[in-house]
Amino acid sequence: MTAAETSLKIIRAETGSASAPEEYFTGDVQMWGRYQGEAPARIGGVTVSFAAGARTAWHTHPLGQTLFIASGRGWVQQEGEPVQEVGPGDVVWIPPLIRHWHGASAGEPMTHFAVAEALAGSSVTWMEKVSDEDYRKGLQT
Ligand code: MN
Repeated sequence: MTAAETSLKIIRAETGSASAPEEYFTGDVQMWGRYQGEAPARIGGVTVSFAAGARTAWHTHPLGQTLFIASGRGWVQQEGEPVQEVGPGDVVWIPPLIRHWHGASAGEPMTHFAVAEALAGSSVTWMEKVSDEDYRKGLQT
């Protein structure tokens, strides 16, 4: 083992902040604290803040994902199911290969901590963006 693999690591919030990639997100989305465990660990995660109306594109995770809602009011949807509203303290488990999106509600921002295990080095498969029409179905929650 190298020294790096046996040393506790801190990813500082102020150095890890970045806007989310536009091709996979809609609206103002900021990320920080991204980390990836070193093999044989598979775990990784990131804190994500969505402005009101902002959300991910449709996507899947090969080994699932857990979302810990830290603040605000969020929406999450599994394809074919109603949009569900989540708030601080809620935990969302997304099973492997389930098509879904998550983000802020239309009226309030939302911050979550997202954790997923990587399979063959990948923890997410991105698809098309969530249309405004589909997103607004959250207003019926
Ligand atoms: Mn997800």
